[in-house]
Amino acid sequence: MATELIYLNDSYAREFDARVTKNMGEYVVLDRTAFYPKGGGQPTDTGFLNDIRVTHVQKKGDEVRHFLETPLSGSTKEVHGVIDWEPRYARMRMHTAQHLVSAIVLDDYKATTAGNQIHEDRSRIDFKPWRPSQEELKLVKQKFDEYVEKAIPVKTYFTTRERVMEEIDPLRRNLFSRVPAFVKDIRVVEIEGVDKCPCAGTHVKNTNELGELVVIETKSKGAETTRLEYTLKK
Ligand SMILES: [Zn+2]
Repeated sequence: MATELIYLNDSYAREFDARVTKNMGEYVVLDRTAFYPKGGGQPTDTGFLNDIRVTHVQKKGDEVRHFLETPLSGSTKEVHGVIDWEPRYARMRMHTAQHLVSAIVLDDYKATTAGNQIHEDRSRIDFKPWRPSQEELKLVKQKFDEYVEKAIPVKTYFTTRERVMEEIDPLRRNLFSRVPAFVKDIRVVEIEGVDKCPCAGTHVKNTNELGELVVIETKSKGAETTRLEYTLKK
């Protein structure tokens, strides 16, 4: 049985109860988890299982492995999980902000997101092809802050590849066609009326949780690529 990924349906779940399905000493696998495993540019969650520190979480095939500071007793069958909420929530804001910045740059400058790395204090997005002027950066920030002001709902749901390819606008078709063929049901993150993107990360439910965009710097990362570093001010 694959682990139920609680964070896909409820990214605000900070605590949960679960059964241990595998105990390897170094790591455990559970029947359900709210811990986000490192992936897609978003770092691992940390926290506790009972009173034992979870140092990092990794997905291997269907298994979500919770690596522990000290092993869980072999007789322990049930655990209470607690996520380190402050850094995780900061990453939810940063990750949703990434979607919004990527959407604005795609729509207004036709540049795609070639990569991204989310951290709780400072995140980055690589755009290609884009060489923004100061004026363009100002316009991106302005539009971002307007979307935040408008308090736009952010929804996540699963849909079939066929359906999403039918509905999606041409600019975003590439994002979805890059999802590996074995994925039948694609998870869509939708900023209502603004953007749709395939993503398995954790996001906030409304743009009004993001705060103000602060562009820290931009730098060239090769011929056509620009790296934009940003943070958020509440
Ligand atoms: Zn995402």
